[in-house]
Parts: sequence; C-alpha cells; structure tokens
Amino acid sequence: MNIDRYKKQIIFYGIGEAGQQKLLKSRVTIIGMGALGSVIANGLARAGVGYLRLIDRDYVDWSNLQRQVLFTEEDAKENLPKVIATKNHLTEINSEIEIEAISSDVNSSNIEGFIQDVDLVVDGTDNFEIRGLINEACDKHQVKWIYGGALASGGATMNILQGEETPCFRCFMDELPEEGTYDTCSTVGVTNAITGIIASFEVSEAIKILTDSDAVSTQYLAIDTYDNLIDYIDVEKNPNCPVCGQKQYTQLDSPAGSLSTSLCGTDSWQVASAANKKINLKLLAARLENVGDVNYTKFILSFKNEEVSFKIFPDGRAIFENVRDGIAAKTAYAEYIGL
Ligand SMILES: [Zn+2]
Repeated sequence: MNIDRYKKQIIFYGIGEAGQQKLLKSRVTIIGMGALGSVIANGLARAGVGYLRLIDRDYVDWSNLQRQVLFTEEDAKENLPKVIATKNHLTEINSEIEIEAISSDVNSSNIEGFIQDVDLVVDGTDNFEIRGLINEACDKHQVKWIYGGALASGGATMNILQGEETPCFRCFMDELPEEGTYDTCSTVGVTNAITGIIASFEVSEAIKILTDSDAVSTQYLAIDTYDNLIDYIDVEKNPNCPVCGQKQYTQLDSPAGSLSTSLCGTDSWQVASAANKKINLKLLAARLENVGDVNYTKFILSFKNEEVSFKIFPDGRAIFENVRDGIAAKTAYAEYIGL
C-alpha cells in the first residue's frame, strides 16, 4: 500500500497516523450518487476510507454534468448507471480501497441489508421520504448517519449520532412534508456551489466520526450562499419522538410494493417492478426492435419511438422520460416491458 498518498492528512493534527489507520479500516455506505453523493464519494475515496458501498438508481444524464463532479460527457453518452461511472473514476483515483457499486432503488425491503454492516451512512439523496427511511433503519441498527440536503442556493446538514443526548432526523423533522407541497430541484434548481459545500461538510464530519474525533458537530448547520447565511442551530432531542423515542418504524415496516417515483431535476418517472425481476436486456432488445430504436449495454437498455422514451436496468427498474405522471409511466411499462 502506498501510504504516502495520505501524507498531508497524516500531518494534520486532527487525523494523524492513528486516524489514517482508522479510516483505512472503516466501512461507509453512501446513498445517492448525484450532486452530493459524487462529492462525498470523491472525498472519502481520496481520504482512504477502506470500504465504500455506493447505491443509486439513476444513470448519468447531460443535465448532471453542471454539478455532479465525477461524471464526464462520455458517461452521459453511454448512459452509464451513476454508481458504475463513480466506481470507474474512483478506482482510477484510489485502487487500494474496496468499492461496491449497487445500481438499485433503496426501499423498505432492502435498506437494512445496505446499512447494518457499516460504521456510517452518508446521505446523498434528494427527498424526505428516503431520509425518513434511512433514519428508521439506522435507529433500528444503531448506525450513525449524516443528513445532507441542498436546493437552489441553500442547504443543511446534521449528524445523527444515535447517542442518548443527540436528536434523530425525526426529532427535528416532525412530520415528513406531503409530496407536492415543497420545492424540489425540478422547480427551483440548484447551484453547484451549495451542493459542493454541503457535501464537503458531510465529508469532513464523516472523517471526524470515523476517526473518533472530539470535534464532531452536534448542531444543525444551515447555509445559503445567496442569502449570505451560515447558521449553526441547537436542536433538542424529542423525548416523545416516534423513531428514537418510541421505536416505531412506520416506513421501514411498510411494504415496498410496485411504485412509480418522480426523479428530481428531470421530467422522468421511475417504475420499479414489483418482484425485483431480472430482465434479460438482449431478449428485450430483440422484442422491441420492431417498434422503435433500441440500444443496450450490459448495464442499461435505451428505447425510443414516437410515443415513449425509456431506459431499463437489468433489475427491472425503468426510467421514463417526458411522461405526464406516474400512471402514464406505469401504463407504458406494462405495454412495452410487461409487469
Ligand atoms: Zn428522534
């Protein structure tokens, strides 16, 4: 192993030789490999976190290149799954760590398997529902996690440390907001500065947590680069919190089902197949050849005709572009792929 690559952080008083050894032995799951996740994965891979599990459901699109720093035009041309593109680039940067790339949705049926054997979970996602699920799964298995979110020019982050004193996500996010009632990056956009800033704070806190630093933040940090605001806020633990107080895991205990989900920042809808079926992309391509244009690699199949345009992964998830709503996406799924 080439330990020289870590020289500058070993000299740093907050990490040192002992901290570096802890990082090399650490295991981290990063959920979401978009604007936040690609900065987080980049930082933790370069810092020498020994094992990274990367999970994301999306593929690289041209509109990602503005802020998702690890991806290239070539990745967008190939429509590579984001986790595969990330693993490819990070392996060129640090071949001495282990990287597991999982191209998958995260839901109540699989999240526990993704988080229970790691030291830390880091949030690179873009919606409240998944964060609620991460919060419940991490509380159940007492795994620390770092919340992070960014929108327009603002963002926030907080460590969820599972201690007696520190709050969980649900303690300060009392009720999950109803879908459609809050802004998303589809409606208000997002700058690459704020995603980089929030993700960099997540990287810094992750390194502190993994090296048992006494400088780990217990406050909620809010930043807005257009309101010129940086604010550390004290957040109390709620003794009646349904999650960390009463151990009610409502989201985790709900069945995953066959769902259609709007993907943030696009006019796209994902349809997940109910039974997590395996799709043979070659056979599907042969079936679709007569009704439109088909391209496929071992990771993804792209289809387009006058009516519909979609991409499908080997695990049966499909992403429909420019569709009206989730119902239209499901209808097209049934018609072209079969439920
Ligand atoms: Zn709580």
